[in-house]
Amino acid sequence: MTELTVSGNMVASVHYTGTLPDNGEIFDSSEGREPLSFLVGHQQMIPGFEEEIMGAAVGEKREFTLTSERAYGERDEAAVLQIPREQFAQLEAEAALEPGMQLVAQMPHGPSPFTITEVSDETITADFNHTLAGKALTFNVEIVELRAASDDEVSHGHAHGPDGHQDH
Ligand code: ZN
Repeated sequence: MTELTVSGNMVASVHYTGTLPDNGEIFDSSEGREPLSFLVGHQQMIPGFEEEIMGAAVGEKREFTLTSERAYGERDEAAVLQIPREQFAQLEAEAALEPGMQLVAQMPHGPSPFTITEVSDETITADFNHTLAGKALTFNVEIVELRAASDDEVSHGHAHGPDGHQDH
């Protein structure tokens, strides 16, 4: 019997910790949670993450640093918008607007998260870039479980949980 390794159309369950190489800050981790399960080869993950764990077997650990192009992409300054403050009047009646606040705009193509970066009397500066855009990211990954995906998972393009029984 050949050993299973991470490859296309496998469901991989992994534990991971993501840190910013600049300052060591942890931005995301599966520690204390269930491992993350995903279908390999269907753009469920940022591209570099999958590429770096290809061929790994269960129990194997890998550490790698991705440039922003292989993670969440470059920042796009055109995605930083000045929005008239009066459009936030309804929200502002309930909560003070502050830099760093994360909100979701209902756009024609669906919900778009953004971060308020500046608040002035007249305008709100809203940054629609992913908070990790433009950043290099370091990951420590351990492969916890591997199995072949079911036909349903492959046609849906996502994993149905660690054991394949969570359809959705
Ligand atoms: Zn499904």
